[in-house]
Amino acid sequence: MSQQRGQLNETDLLESRCLIGGTWLGGNAAPIAVDDPFTLEDFGQVPNLGEAETQAAIEAASEALPTWAARPARERGAILRRWWELIELHRDDLATLITRENGKSIREAQGEIDYGNSYMEFYADEATRALGEIIPSPIPGRRLLAEREPVGVCALITPWNFPLAMLSRKVAPALAAGCTVVCKPSELTPLTALAFAKLGEEAGVPPGVVNIVTGEARAIGGALTSSMTVRKLSFTGSTPVGVLLAEQCAATMKRTSLELGGNAPFVAFDDADLEVAVDAALTAKFRNGGQSCIAANRIYAQKGIHDRFVSALAEKIGAMTVGDGFDESNTVGPVIDERAVAKIDSHREEAIAGGAQCLAGGPSPGGRLSRPTLLAGVAKDAQLTREETFGPLAAVIAFDTVEEGIALANNTPFGLAGYFCTSDQATIAKAARQFQTGMVGINTGLISSAHAPFGGVKMSGLGKEGSHHGLEEYLNVKYVCQAGL
Ligand code: ADP
Repeated sequence: MSQQRGQLNETDLLESRCLIGGTWLGGNAAPIAVDDPFTLEDFGQVPNLGEAETQAAIEAASEALPTWAARPARERGAILRRWWELIELHRDDLATLITRENGKSIREAQGEIDYGNSYMEFYADEATRALGEIIPSPIPGRRLLAEREPVGVCALITPWNFPLAMLSRKVAPALAAGCTVVCKPSELTPLTALAFAKLGEEAGVPPGVVNIVTGEARAIGGALTSSMTVRKLSFTGSTPVGVLLAEQCAATMKRTSLELGGNAPFVAFDDADLEVAVDAALTAKFRNGGQSCIAANRIYAQKGIHDRFVSALAEKIGAMTVGDGFDESNTVGPVIDERAVAKIDSHREEAIAGGAQCLAGGPSPGGRLSRPTLLAGVAKDAQLTREETFGPLAAVIAFDTVEEGIALANNTPFGLAGYFCTSDQATIAKAARQFQTGMVGINTGLISSAHAPFGGVKMSGLGKEGSHHGLEEYLNVKYVCQAGL
């Protein structure tokens, strides 16, 4: 760990103002403090804005829209590419900001920059591929076209677990499509978003195309969702807030993309390669300290592999450490806040009271630290099978047959990601088809990619991010029928 813990090379990237219509607006009487989840010290602040400033941001986005939408896609793509380059150039500083405000290990923060930035690169190219269609006319003398046009002003609301990536995977396709945006990052991690916007400005994003407001979530959300000017909401966060925002969007008939809670199952079948299954489970569970919507929340192991799988996991998890994210020897950093620690503790205690054994880790050591922990012999109806733990707690549940494993995986109202490990082709075909999730990982715990469609079914939401599907979310199809030819 360097002596200058959390210092930025370019101190300007620690921004405490919001961006509205190309103007950086300073704070007001009661700014929001941003703290470091490890030291618990405040190290930054952002303005506490509300409805009036959000209206101003919507107007700025609306004013910027016609010119931005009319620019050749190739030019919009070129700006995204310059932005991508600047993010590359400031990778260390952005990762430092993420570790400071979110707590995750610096290695994971750097991984997030690379992952988040891959969306900038992908959509820089994809901008030019918003292709339309020429439809063979059923009536002579007519030309039928399906054109694609930008949806308009978009509201983007993002969570704290991936402060850069959750934003870049919305901003990049939105701008590529020709939309302008008003972003509301999480009040827990707004600083990465502001630094990201600064680099966008430097890359040549015109005033008003990207606006960032921080402050009171309900007031900002209310202004964004009730506006007729805003034609789309893209939200990543919890299911209850997603449902609320969808309801709020209904009155103005906005398009919505909602990426919500996951409660992902991970299933190790008897014929899985043990090493592959253990690696996949650890990645799916402990990536981002378990604070990911696609984190394996319930780990099911078939009886034939169960004991070997659990003892291999116990060895690996027992060797993991928790502590300062800036100390590279730590596997995981602190979790986001005290509420998160309390939830993890209550899930662990409830499972143990229901008969589970703790084979590695254990109670939280204090502060916002939560130890990488393994529970085995967890009851099928434990609280942690119904709610997302969102922390470094791995819980293994035994099962008998392939059919039971699939049924247990599907036993939830959520359907974001699901993982399973097996070497049997018939089981692969069957489980991949029968998993009620928007994404399936087979023999891997790492599935996210800018090139692939990320998104859920059931209570995990609507819409996709990444790939050409992610661009479609920001495009309307306009049917043009020309007669008299
Ligand atoms: P998490 O559990 O990840 O914090 P939330 O759904 O609470 O998930 O938060 C995700 C994002 O939604 C954050 O930016 C938060 O400020 C915002 N948010 C929370 N409640 C509302 C609301 N009522 N209206 C608009 N945004 C909201």
